[in-house]
Amino acid sequence: MTFDYAPAPESQAIVNIDSNYGLFIGGKFVEPKSGEYFKTINPATEEVLSAVAEAGQADVDAAVKAARKAYDKTWSKMSGKDRAKYIFRIARIIQERSRELAVLETLDNGKPIRESRDVDIPLVAAHFFYHAGWADKLEFAGYGPDPKSLGVAAQVIPWNFPLLMLAWKIAPALACGNTVVLKPAETTSLTALAFADICQQADLPPGVVNIITGAGDTGRMLVEHPDVNKVAFTGSTEVGKAIQRAVAGTNKKLTLELGGKAANILFDDAPIDQAIEGIVNGIYFNQGHVCCAGSRLLLQESIADEALHSLKRRLQTLRLGDPMDKNTDIGAINSRAQLSKIEELAKSGEDEGAQRWSPTCPIPDKGFWFPPTVFTNVTQAHRIAREEIFGPVLSVLTFRTPEEAVEKANNTPFGLSAGIWTEKGSRILWMADKMRAGVVWANTFNRFDPTSPFGGFKESGFGREGGIAGLGAYLDTEDNS
Ligand code: NAP
Ligand code: MG
Repeated sequence: MTFDYAPAPESQAIVNIDSNYGLFIGGKFVEPKSGEYFKTINPATEEVLSAVAEAGQADVDAAVKAARKAYDKTWSKMSGKDRAKYIFRIARIIQERSRELAVLETLDNGKPIRESRDVDIPLVAAHFFYHAGWADKLEFAGYGPDPKSLGVAAQVIPWNFPLLMLAWKIAPALACGNTVVLKPAETTSLTALAFADICQQADLPPGVVNIITGAGDTGRMLVEHPDVNKVAFTGSTEVGKAIQRAVAGTNKKLTLELGGKAANILFDDAPIDQAIEGIVNGIYFNQGHVCCAGSRLLLQESIADEALHSLKRRLQTLRLGDPMDKNTDIGAINSRAQLSKIEELAKSGEDEGAQRWSPTCPIPDKGFWFPPTVFTNVTQAHRIAREEIFGPVLSVLTFRTPEEAVEKANNTPFGLSAGIWTEKGSRILWMADKMRAGVVWANTFNRFDPTSPFGGFKESGFGREGGIAGLGAYLDTEDNS
């Protein structure tokens, strides 16, 4: 049985979106020297929200120059205690403006307001608070008595958690004393530009944070810029490999946070209802646009039918639609291009013989949508079991023994995360030890905390973000003695 819900839309009145935005360089919004702008849309309605500047080579040069100047003249000279004051100030402003940021994120990205309001933005603030706390305590982080910053950090982020990925990048960089040039994803620039406004409001010295918008080419120019000391990238494995090639042979320090194809493993002794909630959260949260999504469900054979039945029953209660509605569980797919990619991979699942199921689910006329989908009869050779779909599509496989679960879970080129559902503590530890994945959750999934390092094995990338390990990515840890 499902309940009827009256619409409960969040008000948009709290956000003011300009008709166009320049680049944020040296503390000011400036027109792009390229003279180019591109449009950003609301993927739930296909309405144009604004025009955003497209940074060309001269703009990238100007941004890196501003970051270098700020590094040399102010930020690297400032005490950790003073840097902390700015970062704390930014964190507090984020909290004060949290409703505005959540609405803006949902409009530009298509994710449900419930998620941007309750997950994304609180975590953004938490990241700045956490790293503000580190700024004057770096000598206690385990990187030597007087750890040094690197210089100018070039940071490129994806569209799935736009402001949160910005926070993961900018907060540790600033805490460790680096200055930043960041490029958000083309389809989700607006919260990064709102963050530029927050930097102004916080009186952050000009040039410490620079935001340049644009497409993949702008990102390429930024990471290839010779005056950059550190490159931090979150995005696809394909682009990550291109960046690694571009950076090879330079002195630039590199971290890559790339794709994933995580296994969520359900043993027969797990509390099924609790596990189903975790499995649903693992793959349908944020429309499955989550690098660490639990996109492969491994069910122990003896409970497979029961678990699938519960899963399907639960999926029938999910509401897909207006992301601004507070009751919405599944929002819009971020772009037409991403929707096509999901459709193509889902079709390959059918063509290769897997069985496709979705709940009955009305799809709005406008915008980009994909219903929550489950594939059964999946084999390890199927593309839907091997490739990252980055959408609300779950591939279900089965296993009989813990050894088989380990083998299947690790049978992937990726290694970002894994989930284990069992009542047995000893089995959790045994499994966690064998998972080739950067994060292993037990009886939960998709939990994030700024104190906890996050990152990949194998083709999911290298380097860690968050926690003490994450600080190391922004400090000079080479032992030159
Ligand atoms: P993407 O195509 O790799 O894009 C990521 C960012 O890189 C965007 O800002 C993009 O600009 C830019 N870019 C594209 N080509 C570039 C180049 N040659 N040089 C430098 N920058 C370039 O990835 P996406 O499709 O937006 O994001 C989804 C991917 O991100 C998934 O694979 C997901 O798993 C991964 N992800 C990983 C993590 C993690 O922590 N491991 C977190 C979130 C997402 P445009 O926007 O203009 O294309
Ligand atoms: Mg958009």
